[in-house]
Amino acid sequence: MLVDPSLAVGERGAPSADAVVVSHAHEDHLVAIDQLPAPVHVHEADVAAVRSFEVLLAGSGLPEEAAREFGRSLASDFHVRSRPDALAVADGHRFELGGRTATVVHLPGHTAEHCSLLVEPDGFFYVADIDLSSLGPFHGDVGSSLADFERSLEGCGAVEARWYGTFHHKGVIDGRGSSVAG
Ligand SMILES: [Zn+2]
Repeated sequence: MLVDPSLAVGERGAPSADAVVVSHAHEDHLVAIDQLPAPVHVHEADVAAVRSFEVLLAGSGLPEEAAREFGRSLASDFHVRSRPDALAVADGHRFELGGRTATVVHLPGHTAEHCSLLVEPDGFFYVADIDLSSLGPFHGDVGSSLADFERSLEGCGAVEARWYGTFHHKGVIDGRGSSVAG
């Protein structure tokens, strides 16, 4: 399973995978998404933005001229294209990986569809953009909600894991002794 194809994955060349999971429909998690041969999964709340570049762009909430400029950046800097066959998954969806599972945990706020993945029995909780230290404290798009984000922070803290993995700044955090919110 490949989770959140990033610029680094794009540069190295995507590893072979049977499935791709996207935590949420932001360009830095969707690099060259149309090039990946495996099925792509994203939470049902905004699967439309992965299926259609135009929907993704509209979700930025930018006025027309700025949206055009942003669209050019998505296409040229992040190589984002429509992925019309993206599959919708719901909270609690479990991927069977052979000896381990990855369970979708819907933690909205940063975006409406934002999800984390709990990998068991290892106890690795990939929290994606729950940690926005290097960008935040908060940023999002038209589907964002601060109230949902705060609820998701609480929900995230309630998950017992051995490691917490973030997409952006903090990397891997050992245990619950360290605050996920920094
Ligand atoms: Zn994001």
